[in-house]
Amino acid sequence: MKIAVIGTGYVGLVTGVSLAVLGHTVYCVGRDKAKINAINAGKAPFYEPQLEQFLKKLVKKKLLIATDQLTGSVKDADITLIAVGTPTVDDKIDLSAIEKATKQVGSALKNGKRYQVIVVKSTVVPGTSEKVVLPILEKYSGKKIGEFGLCMNPEFLREGNAVSDALHPDRIVIGQYDDTSGKTYAKVYTKVKTDKLFTNLQTAELTKYAANSLLATMISFSNEIARIAEHIEGVDVMDVWKGVHLDHRLSPIVGGKRITSGFLSYILSGCGYGGSCFPKDTKALLNFAKERDITTPILAGTVFINTTQPGRMLSLLKDNIDPIKGKRIAVLGLTFKPNSDDLRQSPALVLIRLLKEAGATVVGHDPMMNIIGDKKELHELDIILKSKAQDALSHADAVCIATSWDEYKKLTPAIFKKQMANPLVIDGRRIFSKDQFIAAGVVYKGIGYR
Ligand code: NAD
Repeated sequence: MKIAVIGTGYVGLVTGVSLAVLGHTVYCVGRDKAKINAINAGKAPFYEPQLEQFLKKLVKKKLLIATDQLTGSVKDADITLIAVGTPTVDDKIDLSAIEKATKQVGSALKNGKRYQVIVVKSTVVPGTSEKVVLPILEKYSGKKIGEFGLCMNPEFLREGNAVSDALHPDRIVIGQYDDTSGKTYAKVYTKVKTDKLFTNLQTAELTKYAANSLLATMISFSNEIARIAEHIEGVDVMDVWKGVHLDHRLSPIVGGKRITSGFLSYILSGCGYGGSCFPKDTKALLNFAKERDITTPILAGTVFINTTQPGRMLSLLKDNIDPIKGKRIAVLGLTFKPNSDDLRQSPALVLIRLLKEAGATVVGHDPMMNIIGDKKELHELDIILKSKAQDALSHADAVCIATSWDEYKKLTPAIFKKQMANPLVIDGRRIFSKDQFIAAGVVYKGIGYR
């Protein structure tokens, strides 16, 4: 099949790659010429494991073509996916990019004789596909639904594992306007053996929010428990979670062996969630409920805990180093999670702003520095950036671990003692052994342990 994907961001490009791997011809439609040229040269415009290797092969085979020709691509395609951004502005979903892209897609459908299916891949609040996308498509194409099809297919990939997730999806949820739309779109995934769930449009839309909000809630709940643990002498929340994780409903014993489910990584305390999805999606859903007078205290609590969680690292720091003004604080890890170059809503950046407000000199490091070093978000923070972690630690009065990169797990207590003016480690991701660090003479404090 021929597929046009509008938007060449994390979801658009990775989806394009996964569809091309299935043998479809994919037009990845973007707006930025430099990015398009890079993709066509087999270069990934952002970091995701395996992305570049796949791009190189698929571009060579002409199965994936990046272009700025939206009209031509949509006209030629059997299926068009809309994968543009849906940010939250003032806590409310901003559908302007969706509306604009839909107008362009609608215009491209005009005068076309073939039946084509338009698929909303972006995360949108319930009702958007039917009440916003559909009327625009009808208006700009001059056609009625039925002459074209409409689906909503939420994306569940995780940044840092995006290519693998897109190639081996754990489920495919297809919200369909009608049977013909769903059946036609499902042909794209004939070769993929996984659970396929057919729903109406609104159910698919809410499924994505429910999935993200559940995981975000687990994280915030774990952080709420950490706050309690921090007030009980002798309790470390990490020991608490070990005991909780062993519940056989969370870690079942199969054939005499304990299975550790991936879900458990969300039942752990830290300095909070970030990225382009959880923060904006929980806020958008909260606002969606508020506009309908629905009370959602769990969602509100999840957002509240997360917004204030990076501040817990500052509190731990203040308990041990006062005043912060004039101190040199190293922050290790700037991206919102390991194996990603994404700085969007990263708790590390929130923490850095708090440290700067408190008058600290901040020295930052991230293993992705060669990719993120030029990004506007970092330059706006006015911090010192180092390309080696040990250089960031040099002469620091304290260090905060904000992202759990494997590279940091290899840092020994001796390195902190040698490099730092004062070996105070605030572990926001609990990646180090508390006992080992304390025994070695490092002042070790972490989320969930004081
Ligand atoms: P992104 O900001 O990385 O990419 C969006 C891209 O769309 C940008 O490159 C932008 O230039 C492009 N674009 C916007 N309007 C366009 C137009 N009219 N024509 C061509 N290109 C256009 O966003 P993303 O992270 O890929 O997310 C896209 C959607 O997928 C969002 O709704 C998001 O919530 C959802 N989602 C994201 C993830 C994730 O991990 N990033 C996971 C699941 C779902």
